[in-house]
Amino acid sequence: MRRWQGVSFAARTKKELTLVQEQSCCRQAELEALILGSGHLRPLDGRTALDIETENVATARRIYTLLKDVLAVQPEVVVRRKMRLKKNNVYAVRIPVHGEEMLARLGLVADADDHHVRIAQPRKHKPCCKRAFLRGAFLAGGSVNDPGSSSYHLEIGVADPTTAETLLELLNGYQLHARLLRRKKGFVLYVKEGEKIVEFLSIIGAHQALLRFEDVRILKGMRNQVNRLVNCETANLNKTISAAIRQLEVIRLIDERIGLQSLPDHLREVAEMRLRYPDVNLQELSARLTHKVSKSGLNHRFRRLQEIADKLRRGEYKGQ
Ligand SMILES: [Zn+2]
Repeated sequence: MRRWQGVSFAARTKKELTLVQEQSCCRQAELEALILGSGHLRPLDGRTALDIETENVATARRIYTLLKDVLAVQPEVVVRRKMRLKKNNVYAVRIPVHGEEMLARLGLVADADDHHVRIAQPRKHKPCCKRAFLRGAFLAGGSVNDPGSSSYHLEIGVADPTTAETLLELLNGYQLHARLLRRKKGFVLYVKEGEKIVEFLSIIGAHQALLRFEDVRILKGMRNQVNRLVNCETANLNKTISAAIRQLEVIRLIDERIGLQSLPDHLREVAEMRLRYPDVNLQELSARLTHKVSKSGLNHRFRRLQEIADKLRRGEYKGQ
């Protein structure tokens, strides 16, 4: 994986997001999204705890602060080490009691079976809160490819279908061309266009990440353009050179057999110019003639010279 100062682009983006300053309405919206993405109820000592889990320590700190600010509670932090696969720590920021009540205060509810959190009733967010909600959703379940990797990709995973629909509507309210995909476990929303990923980063307030993304994207674009130009020019140059080599062969043959002076004036001048300027293209050659001729006119004259040379080779030349 490519690293940006030692950390993946996604992790660095999240780190930046956890430092965004916001007003109290937005804090609540971000917390809602964080809980929708990573929260669940957990039976604990006969009570119901609300756990919000993350592998990202900066996100854990953010959740902790938001819970304190928005719900005026004192959360606990539980750290557990993942046994399989990546051995990252998982941080559970926990409110140990009254889990349902905490959710209700945010307009959320937990499913009785799997304890996943859902939106109790759809709400209308203010524009500032929409951004905060997206920021929370990205912090909870988001990831983004490094801009230098082979394809642009940003995604947000969620478990609950209502949340997925809400996010899809929000993202496409900003014309981000987001798509929704069903996976074995839950849903994923994704954005594939570099330009739209940049817009998303701007919307959620990840401005450092945005600048980094743009730098790499522009550099990549320039490199592609330069490569295209180089390939194109090399191809044209090769074409020019091989055409010129053929023309020179024809002219030398004519000169050896009958002498260029025996050609009509308009053909002789072209032949002489080609001998003097063997490596220029037709346009440049035309500019050196006494009477300027179009490219196709010049091509026609070279074809005439070719015909004469062909006739000379076959012994059919009877003069002009
Ligand atoms: Zn707000």
